[in-house]
Amino acid sequence: MGLVVQKYGGSSVADAEGIKRVAKRIVDAKKNGNQVVVVVSAMGDTTDELIDLAGQVSPIPAGREFDMLLTAGERISMALLAMAIKNLGHEAQSFTGSQAGVITDSVHNKARIIDVTPGRIRTALDEGNIAIVAGFQGVSQDKKDITTLGRGGSDTTAVALAAALDAEVCEIYTDVDGVFTADPRVVKKARKIDWISFEDMLELAASGSKVLLHRCVEYARRYNIPIHVRSSFSGLRGTWVSNEPQGDQKVEHAIISGVAHDVSEAKITVVGVPDKPGEAAAIFRTIANAEINIDMVVQNVSAASTGLTDISFTLPKAEGRKAIDALERNRGTIGFESLRYDDQIAKISLVGAGMKTNPGVTAGFFEALSDAGVNIELISTSEIRISVVTRADDVIEAVRAVHTAFGLDSDSDEAVVYGGTGR
Ligand code: ASP
Ligand code: MG
Repeated sequence: MGLVVQKYGGSSVADAEGIKRVAKRIVDAKKNGNQVVVVVSAMGDTTDELIDLAGQVSPIPAGREFDMLLTAGERISMALLAMAIKNLGHEAQSFTGSQAGVITDSVHNKARIIDVTPGRIRTALDEGNIAIVAGFQGVSQDKKDITTLGRGGSDTTAVALAAALDAEVCEIYTDVDGVFTADPRVVKKARKIDWISFEDMLELAASGSKVLLHRCVEYARRYNIPIHVRSSFSGLRGTWVSNEPQGDQKVEHAIISGVAHDVSEAKITVVGVPDKPGEAAAIFRTIANAEINIDMVVQNVSAASTGLTDISFTLPKAEGRKAIDALERNRGTIGFESLRYDDQIAKISLVGAGMKTNPGVTAGFFEALSDAGVNIELISTSEIRISVVTRADDVIEAVRAVHTAFGLDSDSDEAVVYGGTGR
């Protein structure tokens, strides 16, 4: 008998109907002879609503209480789901993250899983139950406080449990049919990918693809847990994410896996930086001390007449204020003329391990953007990715143009988005 972990996102359990539909699917998996562990997210936009609510009582809610509040969302869905399964005549028990043995560090709002001790889940399974676990939450090892794993963290819960329970597969059920060659909300002709490597999936996730969280893919790769991303609405076979394709998993796009875009970043330009050793170090030490993660960095050649240069970098918009304040505070010691802040940017990335061995991918990417009249502001590359920063207004056109140029368009409009408010 196999053990499967299934994860259902908020849009799959948005209302009572959704919960009943998901309950049937879970029961089917059990009837097929599997032991089934289910990880569930909060219903619909519950997490966002709880965040709004917290904001109405306090501008900066205390981390511990914020986590306590947010985990309530998953408690609601897990209990309702267990009830719906029992109503279908099968045994089910729900567990909070803490009860399921999800042990984390104590960084509230973005805790990391450091251990999983699923003793109670094992017992529940051995007694013939379907185990339902609240996603996105755990308990801190030192203080025994309730923590959350960061937005979208239920995927990570699912993979972590799959690893701890040595599951055959971690199925991630969502509101699209799998991983697509571009965001199906933007590119109607995006194509569903049959199989994709952990490596390419990690790059897509890091480049703004939202279908799987970077941390979840990282975890799956570390423990070699195959992920099957699929829709809870259609029942179609989805996308397999693993080290190597298995059986009849087709490797269609040998060169390019997909195009990702990201509008969540901003760009800061430090203007008039003296061109001498230690300047970049001072700027980025200041940013690091403020605990801000940056993405791209570009430094220009200094003008010979002034000996001054500009350094630009991108970072999450949400950290923009903090970064500007930190740099301003240290302006005297770093030495620069001024700061420019721009949050009207988008990042577009082309990802695929095949580009390592195929010349011309970079040229083709830039030609597609130029044909679409899109201006490039920054460029960065890795072995298997090329990213550019453009104006935010150009993002949709740019993604579509690149998708077409690399032959990724499907013949049919197969990219269906079944649910979710996109919030
Ligand atoms: N409910 C949480 C969120 O909306 C966790 C999740 O959906 O994975 O971020
Ligand atoms: Mg959610």
